[in-house]
Amino acid sequence: MRILLLSDIHANLEALDACLAAAPAYDVAVNLGDIVGYGASPNEVTDRSRELGTIFVRGNHDKAATGLMDLEDFNPMAAAAAIWTRNELTPENFEWLRALPHGPVPLPDFPGVQLVHGSPNDEDEYVVSLGDALTPLITVASPLTFFGHTHLQGGFFANGAAADGFRPEYKTVGKTESVSLQLKTANRYLINPGSVGQPRDGDWRAAFALFDTDAQIVHFHRAPYNLKSAQDRIFAAKLPARLATRLAAGR
Ligand code: ZN
Repeated sequence: MRILLLSDIHANLEALDACLAAAPAYDVAVNLGDIVGYGASPNEVTDRSRELGTIFVRGNHDKAATGLMDLEDFNPMAAAAAIWTRNELTPENFEWLRALPHGPVPLPDFPGVQLVHGSPNDEDEYVVSLGDALTPLITVASPLTFFGHTHLQGGFFANGAAADGFRPEYKTVGKTESVSLQLKTANRYLINPGSVGQPRDGDWRAAFALFDTDAQIVHFHRAPYNLKSAQDRIFAAKLPARLATRLAAGR
């Protein structure tokens, strides 16, 4: 089975459309949360996400926009975007986002695979460094966890006493590209497909991944998208301008 992995779309419709256009054929789409927040197309992106599949994990921005989380933990820019999103969402989309499940969520039919937004141990925790990854890598029963939240494409593996992080290495900075990772049965993994709509790894292109369960290969992808259109929507919505300008740097 081929599983499309989407995470941290953040209401960026142009980036989501580019990912779907660039994605190879897939059987199932899963979404690792932060469907909304930051970007200016929360309803369009929520509608698309609902059409794409049935397997979801909630993100902290989904919680913040629907009143499930205190905005005190958010920086002023993120808080402003959460309030704007809350006012913008249709009642139906608001209720749908509010009802998204807490991770980890098992991947149906694949007992060794689970889905989370942050860490397997805490949905709001950031797994940025190998140090952050070690405890979940070693203690969690599931050998393969797909996560989001950090907006950094790549991940971590452990094999006995050995452990390391990895990032896909691309050849260009502006083209549609993919890099494959062959999974090894002896390893345990935490893998982040990257952020569709707010990449933060210095690459402005929309990020996603595809997991081929038969071949045990994760294909990381980057897709250029209509950056100017996404930015213009943010300016027109009078969201903080930095949310638009930072998209160009992928930071
Ligand atoms: Zn996010």
